[in-house]
Amino acid sequence: MSVKIEQNIIGYKVRKPEDKQSQTDGAGSPQRAEKEDAKVIRMHEKLARPEGLECLEGSTYKIKTPLDDHALYVTINDIILNPGTEHEQRRPFEIFINSKNMDHFQWIVALTRVMSSVFRKGGDVTFLAEELQAVFDPKGGYFKPGGKFMPSLVAEIGAVVEHHLQRIGMLEKPELSEQQQLMLDEKRAEAESRHSGAAEKKPLNDAADSYPAGATLCNKCHTKAVIMMDNCATCLSCGYSKCG
Ligand SMILES: [Zn+2]
Repeated sequence: MSVKIEQNIIGYKVRKPEDKQSQTDGAGSPQRAEKEDAKVIRMHEKLARPEGLECLEGSTYKIKTPLDDHALYVTINDIILNPGTEHEQRRPFEIFINSKNMDHFQWIVALTRVMSSVFRKGGDVTFLAEELQAVFDPKGGYFKPGGKFMPSLVAEIGAVVEHHLQRIGMLEKPELSEQQQLMLDEKRAEAESRHSGAAEKKPLNDAADSYPAGATLCNKCHTKAVIMMDNCATCLSCGYSKCG
């Protein structure tokens, strides 16, 4: 299809998949479902807080790291789009991070502003959780209680975002089957009984006390939970095993 341009071009916009809607409307062959879809409110940059509603529903998460005496509080507020309809969706709208420690103030303000803008732009915002969790602190990370390795404070903020997105149903939480969990519990009990004599020899500064002493780091879930069972390295946290 060729289009004759009769006016000066004063701007342009790259076509995105979500623009397809208006395209089909313009082409005069909209399908009924798509037409109804046009009334559905989606996330976009200029989306304002719901009128007359000064408060949004949110959740606050506490982050306590061994790097800092003061905890970090992460608040993510959600907006409910199309409430009461079949298109009802809960989407993150803004994020705030608070701490008594002002050392990180500058970059935290920058990070939360950028993240809030990304939330409001809409689309798939789950990449934020992934990107942040891939940030490594050159000074080295730390272990969380339970043995999970956190490569940086930024990664921990990413983990909070991931947890929140799982809670509001935007991300699926990977869960072990009942059978897998049962098998891991068995292996764990076996390993613990084997190590019970050496319990006092636990290395200092080891937060991974919920897994058997001597457990090593899992490359898949980054938890200190890999033990040798029947000549096979097995992770007691995510079930990863070198022997399949
Ligand atoms: Zn694992």
